[in-house]
Amino acid sequence: MPIKIAAIADDYTGASDLANTWRKNGLRTVQTIGIPSGTSNFSDMDAVVVSLKIRSSPAADAVAHALIAEALLRDLGARHVLYKICSTFDSTDEGNIGPVMDALCKRASARWTLVTPAFPETGRTVYKSHLFVGDVPLNESPLKDHPLNPMRDANLVRVLSKQTTYPVGKLDLQTLANGVEASRARIAQQALQGPCAIIADAIGDGDLERLGDLALESPVSIGASGLGAGLARSLLRASGRQTRAPQSLASVGGFSAVLVGSCSARTLEQTAAAEKVMPVLRLDPYRLVASGGGDIVPAMGFARQHLGKGPFVVSASGTPETVRSIQNTYGNKAAGLAIETALAAIAAELVALGVKRLVVAGGETSGAVVDRLGISSFEVGEELAAGVPKLRTIGRAEGELMMALKSGNFGGIDFFAEALSRLD
Ligand code: ADP
Repeated sequence: MPIKIAAIADDYTGASDLANTWRKNGLRTVQTIGIPSGTSNFSDMDAVVVSLKIRSSPAADAVAHALIAEALLRDLGARHVLYKICSTFDSTDEGNIGPVMDALCKRASARWTLVTPAFPETGRTVYKSHLFVGDVPLNESPLKDHPLNPMRDANLVRVLSKQTTYPVGKLDLQTLANGVEASRARIAQQALQGPCAIIADAIGDGDLERLGDLALESPVSIGASGLGAGLARSLLRASGRQTRAPQSLASVGGFSAVLVGSCSARTLEQTAAAEKVMPVLRLDPYRLVASGGGDIVPAMGFARQHLGKGPFVVSASGTPETVRSIQNTYGNKAAGLAIETALAAIAAELVALGVKRLVVAGGETSGAVVDRLGISSFEVGEELAAGVPKLRTIGRAEGELMMALKSGNFGGIDFFAEALSRLD
C-alpha cells in the first residue's frame, strides 16, 4: 500500500517531534535515521519521516541529501512531501530552507508551495507574514542570538526571498478565515506568473487544518509540526476517518536499562528519583574522559551484577560544577565526545548481553547510541511524556529493540521508572 504522507526533516529532534505528532493523529509512522538503505519494512506504514541533519550544512549538500530522500519517498507512493523545518525558521541568507524548497518544488513541478513555521501549541504564530515567538516578533526573541542561525528579521517574505529563486507571496489570515475557496483563489492569482512560494499566516489549530487541506493540493509544503498536524487531520478527514485508536508496538522482551548522558537539571532530578527505586551507577567522568571514552570496565561490572534482576541506571552526568571542571581540563568538545563514545559502547555491550529495552537521556547522547547500535529506523509508538514517544526499531538484523530517547529537560521527575514500566 502506498504511504499517505511523508516528510524530510532537517534535523533529528525535529523529525521525532513530527513523527510523534503524526502518530498522535492516528497515522502509523516510521522515523528513519538518515536515508534508509531499504524500505521493504515500511509497507504497513501510513507515514514516513526521513531524519536528516541538514539544517546548517552547506546548501549544496542539504539539497543533494533532500533530493535522495525525496526520490525514496515518492517511490514509496508519497504524493505529498513536507519539508520539516524548525518553527523558528532557523536559516541564514544562504539557506537552507530556500535552496531545499526550490529543489523539491522543481523536482515535483510544483506550481506553488505553502510555507509556514506556525506551531501555536508552542507559541509560534505567523501573522501578516511575520513570525512571533510567544508575545514577541522573532527578531526580539532569544533566537536573535542563536549561535548558528541568528534570526534578526521577523518578516518571513523578506527572509525567504533572500534564499529562494521563486517569488514569495502571502496568504493572510483574513483570506484564510474566509475559507478554502477564497484561499485557493488567492494562491492561484499569485501563481499566475509562474511557480511561487506562499508564506501562510496561522495563529491557531483551525488555521493549520485549513492550510493542511490547501497544502495537499501541491506536491510539496514547507513547515513545522503545526503544519504537519494540519496535513494529518486533513488526510484523515478526506479518508472519512477520525483519529485511529493508537495501535501498540509489539513487545520485544529482554532486559532493560537506562543510560544517562544529559547533564540538565531535570535529568539530574530524574536520576536522583530513580536511585530510590533501582540501582544507579554514577561513573567517574574524569576517568571516562581521560580514557577517551574507552574505559567501560566499571560500567560493565555493575551491569553484569544487576542484569536479569530488574532495570538499572548507568549515568555519566554530573553537576554543573563537575561538568565545568572537566571541560576546563579537556575542552568541551573532547569531553562531550569521550562520554558519548563511552555510553554508546556501554549500550552496545548491554544489548549484546540481552538488554532490549533501553532509555537514553540526552539528545546528543541518544544520537551516539543510535548510531553505534546501527539503527536505521524506528516505528513510533505511544507518547511516554510530552515529546518523548516509545520507539521500536525496524529491520535490525540482531533483533528489535524498544527505546525511549529523551532530550535534556523532557519528562517528569519519575520518568525513568515510568518509561521502563511502559517499554515492554
Ligand atoms: P541534553 O539533551 O541534556 O542537551 P546531550 O546528550 O545532548 O544532553 O548533551 C550532553 C553532553 O554532555 C554530551 O555530549 C555528553 O557526552 C556530555 N556529558 C555528559 N556527562 C558529562 C560530564 N560529567 N562532564 C562533561 N560532559 C558530560
